[in-house]
Amino acid sequence: MLNQLEELKLNALQELKDVNDIKGLGSWRVRYLGRKSNLTKVLRSLASLPLEERKVVGARANQVKVDLEEGLRQRERVLQEARLVVSAKEEPIDVTLPGRPFPIGHLHPITQTLYEICDIFVSMGFQVVEGPEVEWDYYNFEALNIPKEHPARDTMSTSWIDFETDSGESPMLLRTHTTSVTARIAETVPPPIRVVEPGRVYRYEASDATHTPMFYQIDGFVVDKGVTISELKGTLFEFARRFFGENRKVRFRCDYFPFVEPGVEMAIECLLCGGKGCRLCGNTGWIEILGAGMTHPQVLQRGGIDPEVYTSFAFGMGIDRLPMLRHQIDDTRLFYSSDLRFLRQF
Ligand SMILES: [Zn+2]
Repeated sequence: MLNQLEELKLNALQELKDVNDIKGLGSWRVRYLGRKSNLTKVLRSLASLPLEERKVVGARANQVKVDLEEGLRQRERVLQEARLVVSAKEEPIDVTLPGRPFPIGHLHPITQTLYEICDIFVSMGFQVVEGPEVEWDYYNFEALNIPKEHPARDTMSTSWIDFETDSGESPMLLRTHTTSVTARIAETVPPPIRVVEPGRVYRYEASDATHTPMFYQIDGFVVDKGVTISELKGTLFEFARRFFGENRKVRFRCDYFPFVEPGVEMAIECLLCGGKGCRLCGNTGWIEILGAGMTHPQVLQRGGIDPEVYTSFAFGMGIDRLPMLRHQIDDTRLFYSSDLRFLRQF
């Protein structure tokens, strides 16, 4: 029986060499590996053989089967390669055709706005700095004249980090404004200082058309000898002129922020109605853009800067609102929905 298997294998492989198409491979497979093939018959008859013989013949028959299957695969590969060569001759490849375009993205509208704002301030001599998004209570509040129980904390619903010190306090949070970076810069950089601090901030709030739990802000901080409120106005006026256009009217009014004294808010003439009054500006003709002021002496002192020698101004604004005003977008959630139909418009 072993001789019979050997002969079968030789015949089969010999015949395989003469097969020249896929169809021929199919009938070869049926003839030598199919259900009615001699090899299958041998394998089926194993049960009737004595145990010793069964072991030897069984092992040999299975090996023949493996060899035939491998032979079939090899022949298949050879035929496929040959066919590719033929088809390349019949249909030559035009190497001068342009490649398929590769889809590339572009910057998110908020990132574009952020870069544009940074460029404006960099051209006025500012440096761009960044700080941590997970922040200590100290830099986010205490250092900025917002001690515990201060009502200003209520206006910034805070996401606290689940972390306690030995004394049972939880002093870490997701920063609620980029002004926290101002507190860090005051502490580490010797004056003169001229920085803008862009980044993400977090509020513990539900989303709606004008709120998201995460959004972008940029803060500015200037410290030098003899800095006055006229430099503050000049800097922000120049920013508004470049960002919103030459003829856009700008208005400063008094406002309150714990870390400045005096504090101001800056508004621009409404982009939609040009000052006549509409729904966007609440019929006032003005849209508030940012808060600013002369940095409070205590904030400077905490950072180790002598307020008798140096004066300082600071400002902060939300980024997300600016492209909304510019493109008249009425829902801030669109920026974070990853909807390409929206994002591709910018
Ligand atoms: Zn308006």
